[in-house]
Amino acid sequence: VSGPRYLVVDYLMVLKEMCVPNATGCITGPAGAAWPYRFIGCILSNMIRDFDVSLETFTPVTNIARKDVISHPFEVQTSRGVIATKHVIHCTNAYAATLLPALKGKLWPLRGQMTVQSVPESFPRLGNKRSWSTIWAQGFDYITQSAANDGSLYIGGGALQGGLFWDEDVGSTDDSKQSSSCLKHLEKVPKIGFGIADGTQVEKKWTGIMGFTGDGLPFVGQVGHDISGREDCDTAAGGEWIAAGWDGYGMVQCWLAGRALAKMIVSGTDNAPEWFPAAEFACTKARLDKMTPEGGLRRLLEI
Ligand SMILES: Cc1cc2nc3c(=O)[nH]c(=O)nc-3n(C[C@H](O)[C@H](O)[C@H](O)COP(=O)(O)OP(=O)(O)OC[C@H]3O[C@@H](n4cnc5c(N)ncnc54)[C@H](O)[C@@H]3O)c2cc1C
Repeated sequence: VSGPRYLVVDYLMVLKEMCVPNATGCITGPAGAAWPYRFIGCILSNMIRDFDVSLETFTPVTNIARKDVISHPFEVQTSRGVIATKHVIHCTNAYAATLLPALKGKLWPLRGQMTVQSVPESFPRLGNKRSWSTIWAQGFDYITQSAANDGSLYIGGGALQGGLFWDEDVGSTDDSKQSSSCLKHLEKVPKIGFGIADGTQVEKKWTGIMGFTGDGLPFVGQVGHDISGREDCDTAAGGEWIAAGWDGYGMVQCWLAGRALAKMIVSGTDNAPEWFPAAEFACTKARLDKMTPEGGLRRLLEI
């Protein structure tokens, strides 16, 4: 779209229209919305109820040690004690480099900002069928609307829109604080994106930490000794694994990545499902060696 600096994208019928802009310049396609906290909470509750699973919250892992014990070759040290285990799976996303220092500068944190903003009575209630993006010359925001009567807009993003962005959010793991530059931008989106003159205000705001990788693809697979610094096990005895670095899209990738990783843990890395891009997502030294912090930032700037 030439002319305007921004474009509001309505995701209704993208597949049907094959991303061809319509007469109003909008690209439309189907969308869906989920309530992640309820969804994950329900899955966890079912697992705890139906399987021999224990969930230890507020229990950071502080160290992993390799032991010469065939039945339990790893010792995971936590703030509340030690766990002896056969397998270790690093699914700490942006924080993975803490226990795998070889990932420093290859998998790094980026803080993202969310808001919930009220809308006036006159604003259409389309939350049960639409979501939008405001696409900027650089970067974009994502917008859904509550399907409830209040029609509040859930507006997130704002990255690359403020001069302070780099100082504030790149490399930050502090989700106890807001991103002032993103917030400043996001509170203007109802006006510039939808032309709402009055009657909107930020009702809720929070930040979350995403994990970005040097090449934009996640790490899903086995972690070898050349990355962990810990001796490899005989495959049958156990192993160290990773599923992290979703580049801000974990909710759409984790499910099948988790299934593929489970299959690899049970049957070996050569037996990943054939639909899974095992080579592209592999956490190998060769892949890590191609990543630089500068390259990662350059890629982010091109989003
Ligand atoms: C603002 C925002 C918008 C997003 N929008 C989308 C979207 O539209 N679509 C999409 O697909 N995804 C989106 N995401 C990304 C998605 O939320 C993440 O990719 C997903 O939550 C990653 O899940 P995870 O379990 O791998 O990591 P996280 O949810 O980051 O969980 C990692 C966990 O590891 C814990 N941890 C860290 N270190 C340790 C340690 N040493 N010991 C024990 N535990 C530790 C952390 O406390 C944390 O609970 C968004 C994220 C943000 C912040």
